[in-house]
Amino acid sequence: MLKIINVTKKYPKSEAAAIKNVNLQIKTGEFIGILGRSGAGKSTLIRCINQLVRPTSGEVIWNGKNITEVEGRELLKVRCDIGMIFQNYNLINRVDVLTNVLVGKSSKIAFWRHVIGVFPKDKINQALEALERVGIKHLAYRRVDELSGGQQQRVAIARVLMQNPKLILGDEPVASLDPITTIMIMDFLKELHEKEKITMIINLHNVELAKKYATRIIGINDGQIVFDGLPEQLTDDI
Ligand code: ADP
Ligand code: ADP
Repeated sequence: MLKIINVTKKYPKSEAAAIKNVNLQIKTGEFIGILGRSGAGKSTLIRCINQLVRPTSGEVIWNGKNITEVEGRELLKVRCDIGMIFQNYNLINRVDVLTNVLVGKSSKIAFWRHVIGVFPKDKINQALEALERVGIKHLAYRRVDELSGGQQQRVAIARVLMQNPKLILGDEPVASLDPITTIMIMDFLKELHEKEKITMIINLHNVELAKKYATRIIGINDGQIVFDGLPEQLTDDI
């Protein structure tokens, strides 16, 4: 499904590379937990997968195609297949839940369609259905910034589900949540993984969570992969 070949990312002006010669192969159906300290390169690695960060060198092969130079419409298509959720939810504040699910932050066209009131009825129904799947349909007309963190992350997941993603990337999606809400969101991701066969690659900084949910753990330190194996193979010294 996904091959990362010799990917290096060096940000402009920074001395060291954030990730160095990373090689990874990910199969459909895996639930990958990425572990590493703050600054290890987890976020850079995950953002190189959907080209939110462009690698400095190397290739990212998505379903047989190198996407490191793909742009425009073709890139949008790739980002449709690869949904992403973030630590800070990345929602449009001061706007209601339903609009957030319909629009997404990057789609200006969709936003203007909504503003002039021409969202097709079937799209609206699809969005309400996505909200039902994440258990917050009753909050559809509330402003997102009035919701709790866990509820906001559900809105973000509903928005991603609208795309029918084959892969979901999570950049520390539970890092801002309390322990109980964390388990609820992780359980929900696990359910999507099992019932809807969505492949998951999730950055976590918590070893216990990775062991509980992931089918495979990638450890990253100083921009390089230092562990790649099953949760039960993980020892304390990575
Ligand atoms: P995290 O550890 O959760 O990845 P950070 O605080 O490191 O969060 O980064 C938050 C944001 O700031 C990210 O979007 C990241 O790309 C950006 N960032 C991190 N380090 C730097 C840096 N040295 N210069 C510029 N931007 C940075
Ligand atoms: P993590 O997600 O594991 O916290 P990041 O990928 O955010 O790690 O960061 C890896 C390294 O790259 C860190 O040294 C960070 O400061 C740096 N970095 C991240 N984003 C940027 C950016 N936009 N510009 C410059 N440096 C960055």
